[in-house]
Amino acid sequence: MSETIKGDAFVDGRWLPGTARFPVKDPFDDTLIAEVTDADEAMVDAAVAAAARVFPTWKRRPAPERGKLLGQLGARMLSEERRLAELCTRENGKPIKEAIAEVRYAASFLTWFGAEASRIYGETIPASNPDQRLTVVREAIGPVAVITPWNFPYAMLTRKLGAALAAGCTVVAKPAEATPLGTLALADLAEDVGLPAGVFNVVPSSHGGKLGGYLLSRPQIRKISFTGSTEVGQQIMKNAAADLKRVSLELGGNAPFIVLADADLDAAVAGALVAKFRNSGQTCVAANRFIVEAPIADAFAEKLCAAVGKLVVGRGSDSATDIGPVIDNSAVEKIAGLVDDAVKRGATVLLGAPPDGKTRLIHPIVLAGITPEMALWRTEIFGPVIALRTAASEAEAIAQANDTEFGLVAYVYTRDGARQQRVAEALEAGMVGVNEGLVSTAQAPFGGIKHSGLGREGSRHGIDDYTNLKYIATRIG
Ligand code: NAP
Repeated sequence: MSETIKGDAFVDGRWLPGTARFPVKDPFDDTLIAEVTDADEAMVDAAVAAAARVFPTWKRRPAPERGKLLGQLGARMLSEERRLAELCTRENGKPIKEAIAEVRYAASFLTWFGAEASRIYGETIPASNPDQRLTVVREAIGPVAVITPWNFPYAMLTRKLGAALAAGCTVVAKPAEATPLGTLALADLAEDVGLPAGVFNVVPSSHGGKLGGYLLSRPQIRKISFTGSTEVGQQIMKNAAADLKRVSLELGGNAPFIVLADADLDAAVAGALVAKFRNSGQTCVAANRFIVEAPIADAFAEKLCAAVGKLVVGRGSDSATDIGPVIDNSAVEKIAGLVDDAVKRGATVLLGAPPDGKTRLIHPIVLAGITPEMALWRTEIFGPVIALRTAASEAEAIAQANDTEFGLVAYVYTRDGARQQRVAEALEAGMVGVNEGLVSTAQAPFGGIKHSGLGREGSRHGIDDYTNLKYIATRIG
């Protein structure tokens, strides 16, 4: 492993400089971090050919051996956590404490799936015919194309890579244009721990749509695993129909965060900070719509503003920073536009001020009096903006929460056990946090319903999408 930042594509175990490069810049001040290979179609062809060539061998390798390599890769991530976290902070902008948490979270998928590789069990089925034996085995699906976003460059990759490699699949990954360096750093570690050439390939690109589309269309690719926006996910699913490729989609969210009248308000505020402000609000599971039962609306807003007002906004590399820059200028414009629209339509600014567009550092804003006509009610804000709306009852809170085409995660705060269960069951979401602002963990199935996606990542269910069931009927007499 080299100490310098890796910027070349990684194809079939070789580092390819290519003929074109694109810049990766620090979102805080646009400092150049590295020039990265701009992969072309020939490189994608080579990566896909390598993944297809090595697939039969990798698939046959005993599961405990595949698992051991994954475990070693996870351990290497942890032993290099500071270096990897600093790289993440530089290319993504997130606070260093969050980058360290991301490295640990990302490594946990490799460790967990490494162990799970040995538990990809089949079935035996009692037959009606005494001369038959019916068995079901689970086989690796084939070479997989993995496309990831910029907001969690390590974790969104390892959640897929861990499951794919554990199942016996091989991978060609295309990271986001803004954050390819973490993926390349991981490829460097993978080479170092002895992952065979061709099992994990990385093709960075500044033309994500075009090159990503080309990668996904290759006939040898048997499964697509995509994390990103709903619009792109929908397009990918349409295109995948041509070859009937298996598709997993982790897409956008519009999470409700319900605080009912009997909630522990301090716990709700603590959960709100976690659910809203990680990565400057740029997470798919970010609480987007706060729905507060009327009797405690003022008390909750007061406590919330007091806590939010203490958050430190600044450069991600400063250890005190809680909120770093947003990813680019278009993110600033989008957030400013959503806040302006809400204020014009009657929202009250309880804390902060609308972004002035001069910096990517956005100080947190708390808005009250939100109504469903406001654009931020229907749109993934992806920034440090809290939108508060009141509900007259539990039933109204649930109706407001479900009034969206998205369904990734929902949060609810209440002390009443029966209410916890009742509301969790009524919420239309793939995941629910009950008195909990952080639901993501390697052991649990992560994923959404409705426009938030298809399939699950993490947990034993996360491996299912990388395997085919094969049923074998054997006549024994
Ligand atoms: P995005 O624009 O959809 O991009 C995601 C990835 O897809 C990037 O690598 C991008 O490359 C690539 N891409 C863009 N157009 C493509 C196309 N036509 N075909 C194939 N690949 C294409 O999303 P983003 O703005 O990076 O990420 C933010 C979104 O991701 C949010 O909506 C967020 O909620 C969602 N997200 C969801 C989850 C989840 O688990 N549900 C987790 C994290 C993020 P370029 O970077 O080169 O454009």
